[in-house]
Amino acid sequence: MPAMEKHILIIGAGIAGLAAGCYARMNGYRATIFEMHDLPGGLCTAWERKGYVFDGCIHYLFGSGEGQPFHQMWRELGAVQDRPMLNHDEYQRITDGNHTLIVYADPDKLEAHMCELSPADAPLIRRFCDGVRQFTRFDMSAMYHKPRGLMNAQDWRAFGMAMLPYLLPMLRWATVSAGEFAARFKHPFLRRAVAQMFSWDEAPVMMGMSLLAYMHTGNAGFPAGGSLAFARAIERRFLELGGEIRYKAQVEKILVENRRAVGVRLYNDEVHRGDVVISACDGRGTIFDMLGGAFTDRRIRRMYDGHLPMHSMMQVSLGVRRDLSAYPHWVTYLLDEPVLVAGEPRGEIGIKHYCFDPSLAPAGRSVVEVIIRTHYAYWQRIYGRRPYDEEQRQVSDILCGFLESWHPGIHADVEVVDEATPLSYERYTGNWMGSTCGWLLTKETMPMLIRSLPKTLPGLGSFYMAGQWVEPGGSVPLAAASGRNVIQLICAADKKQFVVSEP
Ligand SMILES: Cc1cc2nc3c(=O)[nH]c(=O)nc-3n(C[C@H](O)[C@H](O)[C@H](O)COP(=O)(O)OP(=O)(O)OC[C@H]3O[C@@H](n4cnc5c(N)ncnc54)[C@H](O)[C@@H]3O)c2cc1C
Repeated sequence: MPAMEKHILIIGAGIAGLAAGCYARMNGYRATIFEMHDLPGGLCTAWERKGYVFDGCIHYLFGSGEGQPFHQMWRELGAVQDRPMLNHDEYQRITDGNHTLIVYADPDKLEAHMCELSPADAPLIRRFCDGVRQFTRFDMSAMYHKPRGLMNAQDWRAFGMAMLPYLLPMLRWATVSAGEFAARFKHPFLRRAVAQMFSWDEAPVMMGMSLLAYMHTGNAGFPAGGSLAFARAIERRFLELGGEIRYKAQVEKILVENRRAVGVRLYNDEVHRGDVVISACDGRGTIFDMLGGAFTDRRIRRMYDGHLPMHSMMQVSLGVRRDLSAYPHWVTYLLDEPVLVAGEPRGEIGIKHYCFDPSLAPAGRSVVEVIIRTHYAYWQRIYGRRPYDEEQRQVSDILCGFLESWHPGIHADVEVVDEATPLSYERYTGNWMGSTCGWLLTKETMPMLIRSLPKTLPGLGSFYMAGQWVEPGGSVPLAAASGRNVIQLICAADKKQFVVSEP
């Protein structure tokens, strides 16, 4: 059968599924995406309330800078053409009221600023900033140019050469968490602030360094218009390439005959047959529900036994009748006394406004967001009953109370309040425990990312997985790269040259 007629069925129109669909079409395959929601993007989304657009995803997009790592992939996906990228000089500020750490992306500025805060910590600060400088030259996308299984001796040599200068820094910084690193500081404020520098204290320092490095080189910007507009651009590219998307089409089962995936059955009992099935949605649901756990081994069962860290969170979004553009866009406040929020004591609260993108709020108004990590089980226990709504309101009230103390009078200007809990993420995207990035990137999961996870399941042919559950730590570029990698694997199985194009 000519490859042109091969039909690839893709489950999920998140970034991974959309990317897989685009590359499938570029390579002459028929492609149909089944998406349970009525819009594309999955976690890469935004929602509108009374003229405010609450962005639910991209803080920084790797590949936003022309000619830089991952950018070419976004060009192929039609996501960055004519889309201004908004860059920040500082990642965030962290303050305890007496001191403020400005997390500059520029390692020279950061080093000078941190040394001024604590001259006694200068050697440690210098080592950290040297790491950031080194990672400005790191081409992370080299890890995704080709799936590992398709690399020949020449590819491995090139890969080795590209990685060689970073082996030592990786060994040094991928195995230390922000929390552990912070504990090495002498200055009490920096011991608290550095732990929060990259949003969660288990974050490997290398992750934070790469982020600052890419921000500094202008390769981690915010796509103007926000996350949903970004996803919509890839959806448009897929449709223009001749792909088909079926919305409100939730897959119940992946159909298997003779140990090959042959199609999908939707919850409405429609059956769709194809030659290859790609699951670009929740890994656990795919392996244990849609495939009934029939294609696993010890390694996979262990991965999904709940011991690996995940990232569930709550987002409180506010529409505020006030222009906050004169204030730093992201400030984390370290509290004197911990406060109980969603059942857990919190020592810090991060507040972000989006005035840097005026398209997200009516003129003179601001979108403000607060994100807190929270346990899925806490919300799951009360879901569907009155305490769930009450608890959401209570969290918003606590956060608005703090906001009022930092921006007096702002409470009266709050026009819209919107809460999203891990249950919201689960409901809208199907991700296990509402996880926002698959497994959380920590020093435990970092080796999985570096080694790379298989995109197939043992004993099942014509089946692939793409997205954040096969790319630990998730992220929009890695989700897209895994969709691309899966089509490379399919082309290789069909003995076809993998080709790409730009719109
Ligand atoms: C608050 C937040 C902030 C983030 N910040 C960043 C950031 O700054 N930078 C960055 O790069 N990344 C960020 N991420 C992570 C990034 O959004 C994700 O890792 C990435 O979008 C995952 O894409 P995916 O396609 O793998 O999965 P998903 O987005 O989960 O897509 C899966 C799709 O499959 C659909 N689906 C599920 N089950 C079924 C079914 N049975 N049948 C049909 N369809 C189904 C879902 O509806 C969904 O559309 C953030 C995420 C969140 C939530």
